[in-house]
Amino acid sequence: MATRPSTFPLQRIIFLAVSVVLCVQVGWWFNVQIRESSRLMEARIRALRATRAEAWQLDGLSLLSHLHTRPDPSSRTGVIEGRLPNLPDLEQRRKRIQGRYPHVAVVPAPIALDDPALLDGAAYLTLRPEPILELENQRWHTVFRAVTEGAFMVVVVLSGLVLLYRKLSEELDLRLRQRNFTSAVTHELKTPIASLKVWTETLFTRTLPDDQRARIRDLMERDLERLNELVGNLLDVARAESGNLVIHPEPLELEPWLRGVCEAMDHRLGAGALGLRLEFSSEAIWTHADPKALGTVIENLLSNAFKYAADPRETTVTLDGDGEDVLIVVSDLGHGLSAKDLPRLFHRFFRVGDEMTRQVAGTGLGLFLVKEIVIRHGGEVRASSRGLGLGSAFTVRLPRLPRPADA
Ligand code: ADP
Repeated sequence: MATRPSTFPLQRIIFLAVSVVLCVQVGWWFNVQIRESSRLMEARIRALRATRAEAWQLDGLSLLSHLHTRPDPSSRTGVIEGRLPNLPDLEQRRKRIQGRYPHVAVVPAPIALDDPALLDGAAYLTLRPEPILELENQRWHTVFRAVTEGAFMVVVVLSGLVLLYRKLSEELDLRLRQRNFTSAVTHELKTPIASLKVWTETLFTRTLPDDQRARIRDLMERDLERLNELVGNLLDVARAESGNLVIHPEPLELEPWLRGVCEAMDHRLGAGALGLRLEFSSEAIWTHADPKALGTVIENLLSNAFKYAADPRETTVTLDGDGEDVLIVVSDLGHGLSAKDLPRLFHRFFRVGDEMTRQVAGTGLGLFLVKEIVIRHGGEVRASSRGLGLGSAFTVRLPRLPRPADA
């Protein structure tokens, strides 16, 4: 079995690098947004402070203009008058300031450290808290928006990347499985052909006793059967892929039919080699199925139970009714399956990538075909295993058919 192509880690590295660049980019973008909003807020507060200074200047100028107003000396010649300056009323000044500068308040005592006293010390100017609070709110709003937009952006882009990554992984995986498949099929074709060639040469070039000729004939038949099975499977897979795998269902009593298929398969694999145990329900169980296609399903499952278990094998086939369904379970005590392989078991070309599977000839098409045929019967097939070394079980569920009246 080939190893994963070297592009796989490269693909992962690219994915990780793009994700890191994206996160750094978004982090930088957050930073810019937060800094810019702080700067904007500071500028606005400075502008507010400028209006407070302007208010202070306005009030100061009005005071100074009052202080410097002198009576016309020519009107009261020789009279020196001492008069206190007639300063405008503080309430009037407050109204004037607040009318013109709505964000500035005239207060008796400073509220902020830098609140300036009016020129005559009668009160202080401070900035109202509302606009500053509003600015603060606006700033947090901007930051919140930046964070949510950024998070949304990251989620969208990362989801896209994950999808892309998965798609690429699937593509690469399929390509790898196809490559394995090509070498497996080549091997599967070459081995029986080579052996047939040797037997043909032996038969035609040497005079052999009858018992040896009979043994060679058996071996040749087995090779031909292997080739026939492989080509049949390949044709069925091609049909399934193009949607042309047509089945011809008919009412089928499962007990005698299944017994026949299992026993024939046991015989083909070498009498007793499967360690076959049949546990069939005593009631008559019927389904609507194509005997040939369903036979392919059972043969593939039994062939796997043979291939992926060591001698002495124990293969159990059970047949039972389950409400409106029929259950056929083929289980073995062989190599077993790990939980991580179960979801991909019925994929085209999939073969478990361990040492044990590598030593066994196969194309990774058998279970795909099993699934396609069972689906066409309106049923489903599941695999289960208690773990590596603990055997496997394949359960085929088909709709049950009431016993036909004429049966
Ligand atoms: P193939 O047997 O030609 O490789 P299949 O599609 O029949 O292809 O099986 C796919 C893979 O599932 C096999 O390569 C094997 O690793 C695993 N498998 C199938 N049946 C069994 C089983 N009974 N026990 C352990 N592993 C199995």
